[in-house]
Amino acid sequence: PTPADDIPADVRERHARLSQDLDDHSYRYYLGSPIVSDAEYDRMMAELRELEDRYPSLVTPDSPTQKAGAPISNEFAPVEHLERMQSLDNAFDDEQLTAWAHRVGAEVPVEAFLCELKIDGLAVDLVYEKGRLVRAATRGDGRVGEDITLNIRTIDAVPLRLDESVHPAPELLEVRGEVFLPATAFEELNARLADEGKPPFANPRNAAAGSLRQKDPRVTASRPLSMLVHGVGAHRGVAFTHQSQSYEMLAAWGLPVSDRTRVVSSLDEVRAYIAHYAEHRHDPEYEIDGVVVKVDDVALQRRLGSTSRAPRWAIAYKYPPEEVTTTLLDIKTSV
Ligand code: NAD
Repeated sequence: PTPADDIPADVRERHARLSQDLDDHSYRYYLGSPIVSDAEYDRMMAELRELEDRYPSLVTPDSPTQKAGAPISNEFAPVEHLERMQSLDNAFDDEQLTAWAHRVGAEVPVEAFLCELKIDGLAVDLVYEKGRLVRAATRGDGRVGEDITLNIRTIDAVPLRLDESVHPAPELLEVRGEVFLPATAFEELNARLADEGKPPFANPRNAAAGSLRQKDPRVTASRPLSMLVHGVGAHRGVAFTHQSQSYEMLAAWGLPVSDRTRVVSSLDEVRAYIAHYAEHRHDPEYEIDGVVVKVDDVALQRRLGSTSRAPRWAIAYKYPPEEVTTTLLDIKTSV
């Protein structure tokens, strides 16, 4: 590797510029008001990664390539997550997906993959103690998020108490999921904002982010947000052998899980799932930007572990953006 001192000044400058811009874009994005398209953000991130591959001494713990999410604002109280919330590594084509599956297969014997839709919403963390919802937070920088408990409580899909008719509630359950605004609700909200002379939201994701991060929970309550759960964080008083099994229990407790998730046993079946939803991208009531493929066995997940940013046992297969030409002018936001 090139010693730190030997990095050309223009490379160093480009690296600093990209890092700063990516951090700024991330911050805006999590507030629901991005100024560049996701494709442009991904392109800048790819360029940053290339520079760091060429000059590894540029990699520092605070580089955007090493972190999940964005710093939190001071509008809400900070909440430390019981377990870190991570991002996901991406595959943009079949070759990258296959390479991931081979890396995983070289480490552990995978018998089942879990295929899920990648919901383009807002990541949230819910904590249930003895079956009662005690706290909800945004992802923030993955370690500390923002307390949005009052806002989350207004979402019909989120149970305030777990249903104990099938399984007793565990002592502690931290669940992760995605909050989104269904397509029809998004259209109605924008029509209403237009009637009121206010600027519309550019897409359902921004609308969901803007609606959830309201100081007045009554405004959040007026926006028909929904949620799907896709993971478990800290837990006590319950154990899961497979992630798919955890979903069955979450569903029995009344938590919203997707009925489009599939357990498959080969990479070809993963490819078929990805191909199916590439064709049926608008079947779900929420927007998707890809498919998440996970190793189903929790013991294997533990053996594979994580990097500072993302688990090694999962990958996000991203679909090509439907609109790459979004410009600054197209994106207007509202709160
Ligand atoms: P990500 O959105 O690519 O993937 C990670 C997230 O996916 C998880 O945190 C989780 O909340 C979510 N997710 C949805 N469905 C899931 C499922 N079934 N299982 C597991 N997780 C699921 O990564 P990120 O770190 O949240 O954001 C990075 C991406 O966001 C970029 O690639 C870019 O597209 C976009 N972004 C855009 C801007 C911008 O300015 N336009 C800025 C920052 C980020």
